[in-house]
Amino acid sequence: MTPYNTILLAVDFTPDASLIADRARRLAHASDAHLHLIHVVEHIPIDAAGEFMGPPQTDLHEEMIETARERLRDYARAEGLEHAARHVAAGYTKQEILVHAETIAADLIVVGSHGRHGLALLLGSTANAVLHGAPCDVLAVRLY
Ligand code: AMP
Repeated sequence: MTPYNTILLAVDFTPDASLIADRARRLAHASDAHLHLIHVVEHIPIDAAGEFMGPPQTDLHEEMIETARERLRDYARAEGLEHAARHVAAGYTKQEILVHAETIAADLIVVGSHGRHGLALLLGSTANAVLHGAPCDVLAVRLY
């Protein structure tokens, strides 16, 4: 197998994120690759009727990003990934993962086969969307 140089791991903080981290860590170790972590804050203000409420308040937005940075740092520590580069983005998850993959010239993106949205919605999931837009290999770690 050709070793990977730069691996991007997409982290959503669900309980399965630990299993996905383990897979990415082993792959990075086996390939002596650089490992990068990304978490996307996908805050789209929608009211009870499903109507878009306009751009999020700046303070709230900043707070969410800061909280996400802390969570990603704690996650990296807990998973033994302290040496991985960390990136928190805001926007649409699929898009931000793909943009960052290009920015760092990733040759592998690691995602879970499903996360918050569940198996029933797999076809609409991040894994599927990333797979179809990725400039490189994608590993969708099978989750049950
Ligand atoms: P889902 O689209 O919720 O089924 O999630 C599938 C996989 O996409 C997860 O296991 C993560 O690897 C990735 N993912 C989902 N949401 C995010 C997010 N907000 N930030 C980074 N990665 C995510």
